[in-house]
Amino acid sequence: MKGNKDDGKRKGGLQVSVLRIGYRPVRDDRMTTHAALVSRAFGAECIYMTEVDPSIKDTIDSVCTRWGRQEFRVKIVKSWKDLARRWKTENPSGKVVHLTMYGININEAIDQLKNESTILVVIGAEKVPREAFDIADFNIAIGNQPHSEVAALAVFLDRIFGGEELAKNFSDARLRIIPTPIGKKVSEVTPDNSG
Ligand code: SAM
Repeated sequence: MKGNKDDGKRKGGLQVSVLRIGYRPVRDDRMTTHAALVSRAFGAECIYMTEVDPSIKDTIDSVCTRWGRQEFRVKIVKSWKDLARRWKTENPSGKVVHLTMYGININEAIDQLKNESTILVVIGAEKVPREAFDIADFNIAIGNQPHSEVAALAVFLDRIFGGEELAKNFSDARLRIIPTPIGKKVSEVTPDNSG
């Protein structure tokens, strides 16, 4: 995997956090887990969630331990509105981007968004309350058709990071995939082969 950028941390670049609002116990567990996995793999710093099954956090922590990015955090918050307001106060120049099929098409907004330095991406689960639309600086559609918050988040992060996140190696990984056209190759990272 030499040749890939070896860095899970963003140094001075664009910082993206994700806020997952709404959660239907059991029914949304897989989607919530996948939203967290996509956040980690596609370069977000952390994901905030309201009251979820605590095993979701354990699953993600275990992925980070084995596959790297141990700095990635799943943060459980009591109130998504309080979190969004606090985030705005703490990041006065940051922008809240709510992903919704009712918003402005990403193709029209991406150039402007790429100039931002700190973004909180909001994704929903079930029907999203009106306040999410109001609290957002941008309501952005990944196409104006209904699909999924996991798909919307993946496309958004890929667009905003311009695909660079897909080329990263995480320096703290214990396991690393050796890309191969046939079969599976995974190596354990030791002090000798960590570079
Ligand atoms: N019907 C719900 C509503 O009224 O908001 C949407 C539910 S949808 C299954 C769950 C989430 O997926 C949405 O809150 C949004 O974040 C995301 N989503 C779905 N389609 C989208 C699209 N075309 N563009 C952006 N986000 C989308």
